[in-house]
Amino acid sequence: MKNVLILGGGFAGIQTAIELQKKDTFEVTLVSDRDYLYLYPISIWVPVHLTEFENVKVPLATIQKTYPFNLIKDKVIEIHASENKVVCENQTLTYDYLVVAFGADKMKHKGIENTLSICGKPEVSLSIRDGIDKLIQKGNGKIAVGFGGNP
Ligand SMILES: Cc1cc2nc3c(=O)[nH]c(=O)nc-3n(C[C@H](O)[C@H](O)[C@H](O)COP(=O)(O)OP(=O)(O)OC[C@H]3O[C@@H](n4cnc5c(N)ncnc54)[C@H](O)[C@@H]3O)c2cc1C
Repeated sequence: MKNVLILGGGFAGIQTAIELQKKDTFEVTLVSDRDYLYLYPISIWVPVHLTEFENVKVPLATIQKTYPFNLIKDKVIEIHASENKVVCENQTLTYDYLVVAFGADKMKHKGIENTLSICGKPEVSLSIRDGIDKLIQKGNGKIAVGFGGNP
């Protein structure tokens, strides 16, 4: 059986894993550096306390129970396409077919380091929440809002 390696446990990687494992033609393995699917669309409610961070996470193990693909929690460091090899922090994996589903990342222009974006790492939603809480406690302050990560 051919082995498919899927890199990334977001919507793209998980949907690919689900569809391919249903076919029974491939040995399907999903690699992600997070052990949960992060539901970005509802993460906007974390900063304003309308939901908790934990409620935005779906454990990959729960999805795997219904769709039994192999699951590896590890961070991918390098891809060697000519050797069909993926180097992770803790192991090296081989594949017949590779799907890369790491999601998007933005160009890091000057000033971006001073911003918090809900589109970034999941934990940023908590930093935004804590920042807003501090302002409320203080009773005043400024919030600068940009679009698409512009500082
Ligand atoms: C606030 C917000 C609201 C949104 N609302 C909507 C909406 O209403 N409707 C809609 O359709 N879309 C919405 N989106 C967009 C949607 O969330 C994204 O398009 C979607 O998450 C992209 O999925 P993805 O799998 O490509 O990437 P991601 O969700 O970014 O997943 C990437 C995965 O790869 C993993 N990964 C990354 N690097 C490595 C590495 N080196 N090694 C191992 N694993 C790695 C990550 O941990 C993650 O699991 C919203 C996005 C945001 C931020």
